[in-house]
Amino acid sequence: MLNMKEDLHIHCNYNDHSSMDLTIPNIINKSETLGLERIAITEHVRKNSVWTKKYIDELDHYIPRTKIKILKGFEAKILVDGEIDCPAEFLNNEYFIIASFHTRYNKEEWYEALTKAIKNPDVDVIGHLAPEIDFKVNGSEIRNIAELVVANGKKIEINSKYIRPPKEFLKIFKEYGVEFHLGSDAHAINDIGNFNRIKDLINLIEEK
Ligand SMILES: [Zn+2]
Ligand SMILES: [Zn+2]
Repeated sequence: MLNMKEDLHIHCNYNDHSSMDLTIPNIINKSETLGLERIAITEHVRKNSVWTKKYIDELDHYIPRTKIKILKGFEAKILVDGEIDCPAEFLNNEYFIIASFHTRYNKEEWYEALTKAIKNPDVDVIGHLAPEIDFKVNGSEIRNIAELVVANGKKIEINSKYIRPPKEFLKIFKEYGVEFHLGSDAHAINDIGNFNRIKDLINLIEEK
């Protein structure tokens, strides 16, 4: 069910907090060495990011030069109104968009914003999904989320940086037939394709 030869959440050196050697060619070299078949390079974006053209041009340069299938993408923050913090020009089928929570909201805001993000046709996957530490999400709420995810054809990422989603989410998601994929959320070269931290979550998804 999970493809261990793919990593669909990799950052690069266009943001201000990843390793400087996390360049696009270094990501591709490392992925080739690991035998990965498909990766998504998904730099953190905001509506006002100024580096996006250079980033896309660089991706377009390298994509034809490797056998690895590379998805051009962005990780965009889910805003409190449920909108995605991503320039409109990238909100279309050409780009792989991970929508993630990067700001702490209260439960009501979180739930509303998540619902909107799942319904957003330009979003491909919900990244590192989990409730905030100050609230819990009950079984019927998780079931509602699962139904929405399936109805809207979204994927749920199994994230090895944050070890998310929590197991109680995964068990219910699995029952509902939610589709998953792996994302390392790499901020350094050695994070790429490294899913050792989420063996338990992988086993939970794979077990019959
Ligand atoms: Zn994130
Ligand atoms: Zn990330």
